[in-house]
Amino acid sequence: MAYVVTEACIKCKYMDCVEVCPVDCFYEGENMLVINPNECIDCGVCEPECPAEAIVPDTEPNLEKWAELNAKFSAEWPNVTVKGETPADADDFKGVPGKYDAHFSPEPGKG
Ligand code: SF4
Ligand code: SF4
Repeated sequence: MAYVVTEACIKCKYMDCVEVCPVDCFYEGENMLVINPNECIDCGVCEPECPAEAIVPDTEPNLEKWAELNAKFSAEWPNVTVKGETPADADDFKGVPGKYDAHFSPEPGKG
C-alpha cells in the first residue's frame, strides 16, 4: 500500500508535503508532484499537510489511473525534498475540476 497524489495537485504544487515525508519519496513534474509507491512507507504524514487535499491512500476506490500515473512518473521525474516556490496562480486552480485533461504535463520539474 502507498499514498497517491491525485488531480487536485495539478497546478497547485504548494509542496508542503515534501517537507514532511520521512523517506523523501516525492518526485516533481512540471506542474504536479507524484509519490513513488515502492518507496512510500505508508505513514500518512503527508496527507493532512496538503492544502489541496490531493493526497489519498491507494485503498480508496477508483484510484487506478492515479496509482498508475504516480508509479510511471516517479520513475521518470526528479526527486524533490525541499519545498519550492508556490506558483503565483496556485490558489486560482485549487479545487478546479478537469485539470488533468486541461493542464497535466508529462514534462519533468526542476527537482
Ligand atoms: S502539498 Fe498537495 S498540492 Fe501541494 S505539491 Fe504536495 S500533493 Fe501537491
Ligand atoms: S505516506 Fe509517508 S512515506 Fe508516503 S509519501 Fe506520504 S509522508 Fe511520504
